[in-house]
Amino acid sequence: MKPANPKSCGGSNAVAICRKSGLKVTRQRVVIIGEILKSRNHPDAETLYRRVKPRLPDLSLDTVYRTLRTLSQKGHIMRLSTPLDRGHFDPDLRPHTHFVCRRCSRIWDLPVETAPSRDLMEAAALVGQIERVQITGVGYCRDCAHDSERKPTP
Ligand SMILES: [Zn+2]
Ligand SMILES: [Zn+2]
Repeated sequence: MKPANPKSCGGSNAVAICRKSGLKVTRQRVVIIGEILKSRNHPDAETLYRRVKPRLPDLSLDTVYRTLRTLSQKGHIMRLSTPLDRGHFDPDLRPHTHFVCRRCSRIWDLPVETAPSRDLMEAAALVGQIERVQITGVGYCRDCAHDSERKPTP
């Protein structure tokens, strides 16, 4: 792979995060990272792959998976805890809550802080130290709740 030219593909922020994550800066990674950083709908790896593939014809899905995994391990993006089959990723690291629809798999941001309660901190102290709390509401969105009234899921 050719080294990336930051000016032509996705900005210096993506390049900096690529470097900080210990990844070699390539055009593919810079485009993938640029795309996840501006994503506001918590994409999974396959969704992100389909978005950037037209710009990167040689890209493999595996590269997207590995890049996202490294970024979340290094704390630059967050892998969401959801009951959905695929891993979903969020570039917004500010404490906020999610709503997941188990029928259409869409994920919404809820502007509610997720500070751990004193009870939680005390209980967790017996085990270790909590770095981050994720709160995910799981249910049916309005569209899907409405749909299932008319034609219930089998
Ligand atoms: Zn839904
Ligand atoms: Zn979010």
